[in-house]
Amino acid sequence: MAGVDLGGTAVNYTFLTGQEQFMLEELCEYPARSKEGPEICLQQIADGLEIAASKAGVQFADVAVVGLGTPGPASAAGVLSAKGSTNFVHPGWAAFDICQNLEHRLGKPVTYLNDGNAGALWGHFVLFGASTRATSISTIIGTGLGGGVITDSNVVKGRKGYGGELGHVLIPYQSIDAIRGLKPECNCGRLGDLESLCSLTAIEKCLLPFFLRQYPGHQLGEIGDFRQAAKLVRGLAESGDSMCKEIFRVQANALGLFFDAMINTFDPDALIVGGGALETKQEFQRWFLDEIRASMPKQREEQADIPIYVMPNGDTAGARGAAIEALQFARTLGLA
Ligand SMILES: [Zn+2]
Repeated sequence: MAGVDLGGTAVNYTFLTGQEQFMLEELCEYPARSKEGPEICLQQIADGLEIAASKAGVQFADVAVVGLGTPGPASAAGVLSAKGSTNFVHPGWAAFDICQNLEHRLGKPVTYLNDGNAGALWGHFVLFGASTRATSISTIIGTGLGGGVITDSNVVKGRKGYGGELGHVLIPYQSIDAIRGLKPECNCGRLGDLESLCSLTAIEKCLLPFFLRQYPGHQLGEIGDFRQAAKLVRGLAESGDSMCKEIFRVQANALGLFFDAMINTFDPDALIVGGGALETKQEFQRWFLDEIRASMPKQREEQADIPIYVMPNGDTAGARGAAIEALQFARTLGLA
């Protein structure tokens, strides 16, 4: 099986055996040419797969199914949104069936997942393998908030592929004392969804402007550009800056409220947090998980021990998740 993660700036490859072993430990990454449109980009993926296969010591001809992951919005079958998206700006991508076109080019079956769901499948696989009855909920904190719900090893894609859009689930943000008076608006238009408080965009648009008013003279206020300043919040929080830690605490609070809703909806085996926000030392990760737990309402006794994990290998998650989806499809075809 092969896994391809086509992002806005890079394309990543990985390979997975039928025995659930990954054949590339490190990242196999190339700059993505998605800005040049589908024709050039798909050819790049096909060429890149050949190169990556030789690196992994496999014949591309032996690959049974290719799993593809891309940023959305896209349908469950891999048709990109007609309105386009930030990552696929070339007009040729509008309503483009990326999955079927890649299938024609490669002459192999291609499965599709959006990158959030692919990451969630990878997080689930690390804990439980590719075939279990377990349920997990993954949240990936990046520029936005992606993630997914996995039950019985299957990604919950929903009717049109928008299942697991966890960033746009509304949370009772009014109960977070530290942001009393704040109206957290998301790019999607909702007020107080998870992404509006728990993402790099949330830090830039909402949390940093809000907290800087309470911390006059803070070094991040001197920068003048919230986008630049937002990128420095994680590092400062990790080194103990009290305002930046407070911003991360609010993100943890938001996750705690969200996970509580998921606990009552799915009674999951695991809650998983990943993404750039958690690319920190273990000590900070542990503090963040403790803050999530502390901000949940009290759980019933049977559910109080539902574990929260940090997702490993953030930068390979998309390609690996896509490969696991390919493996599951290959199994249904009797190819693995
Ligand atoms: Zn939203």
